[in-house]
Amino acid sequence: INVAVPTELAPEERRVALVPDVAGRLIKLGATVLIEKEMGQRAYFADAAYKDVQIVDTAIQLYAQADVVLKVSPPTEAEIEQMKAGTIVIGFMSPHRYPERVTKMRDKQITSLAMELVPRISRAQSMDALSSQAAVAGYKAVLQAADLSNVFFPMLTTAAGTIRPAKVLVIGAGVAGLQAIATARRLGAIVEGYDVRSATKEQVQSLGAKFVDTGLKAEGTGGYARELTTEEKQQQQDVLAKHIAAANVVITTAAIPGRPSPKIITTAMVEGMAAGAVVVDLAAEGGGNCELCQPGKTIVHNGVTIHAPLNVPSQMPTHASEMYAKNLFNLLSLFVKNGQLEINWQDEVIAGCTLTHAGEIKHAPTRALVE
Ligand code: NAD
Repeated sequence: INVAVPTELAPEERRVALVPDVAGRLIKLGATVLIEKEMGQRAYFADAAYKDVQIVDTAIQLYAQADVVLKVSPPTEAEIEQMKAGTIVIGFMSPHRYPERVTKMRDKQITSLAMELVPRISRAQSMDALSSQAAVAGYKAVLQAADLSNVFFPMLTTAAGTIRPAKVLVIGAGVAGLQAIATARRLGAIVEGYDVRSATKEQVQSLGAKFVDTGLKAEGTGGYARELTTEEKQQQQDVLAKHIAAANVVITTAAIPGRPSPKIITTAMVEGMAAGAVVVDLAAEGGGNCELCQPGKTIVHNGVTIHAPLNVPSQMPTHASEMYAKNLFNLLSLFVKNGQLEINWQDEVIAGCTLTHAGEIKHAPTRALVE
């Protein structure tokens, strides 16, 4: 089979779906690998680094030969137009944001596997791109916060006196939040972590951070959180307000699957923070955890900087791409055997992430949205 990787079209997307090491592994699986010229360049992988790979001049030529297409961002309608019927395309699909692309793939008999729909079961951990990319985002958010901050993170003992370490509060202790806690600790800050799932308490503490306990238990299904009731939100705000006010840096990562980001930091809470403090809102993609968040922008309110970056993993493209490409490889190795496609559509992982196949939308929530 031909596995093909086009250049990503979204200008802000610097990750790539295939890195040289993974290309070699695909070839060992018996696949023929084709890449569009300079596909890897945005993530600093030169064409020459991809050994034994066919380099194709244009996307049109690439799609004409592709059996499997590897992508990072959702294929555009123009890209889908160029794919042959029966092509399998794998990448992030954002079906809620781009329902028209989903219907186009359905109508063109394109099989699409959505990386964000890979079930979060133990067997699929190595294919879990949400987790790998969230870890990149959590790390980078701390570095951005440190850069925007008016204070040192570590304690410093110098001839000019002793500097107290920064206080960092991380709200939402999932994959991104735990990586943020670990990174802030490595930089020497005093760190607090908070989440509504009680299982996170031990995880936060094991990283050397203090757990902020609001007494809430809001576990949802599949290891995720559920939305809080109005009373619970109030209870959360009452406890969190003083921790937020005392922090030099707050990093927020709270998310509920399929829902807008919960609003946790109110304008009044920001106004209770010291001038010079920083909020990095990693939930900006879903609207943000801070009421004042403007996705994609950095604003200052009453001396408090509120940074709401989008597509953070793309800002560390080399390692983000390495991790993402390995996730893709692990998924592909479920059904590429001796250079042939052998797909078991009943496999829980494959069935879970199939968005469109054989002229149908297989993912029920997306089907409900568009049909
Ligand atoms: P996520 O990105 O959906 O949410 C981030 C965090 O925000 C979660 O920890 C959630 O509990 C928290 N949150 C939601 N509402 C909140 C609120 N009002 N206040 C504070 N925090 C709030 O989640 P994620 O990081 O992708 O995953 C969460 C968990 O799922 C992981 O920590 C893990 O336990 C589980 N998981 C399992 C697997 C697997 O088994 N393969 C893979 C990934 C994640």
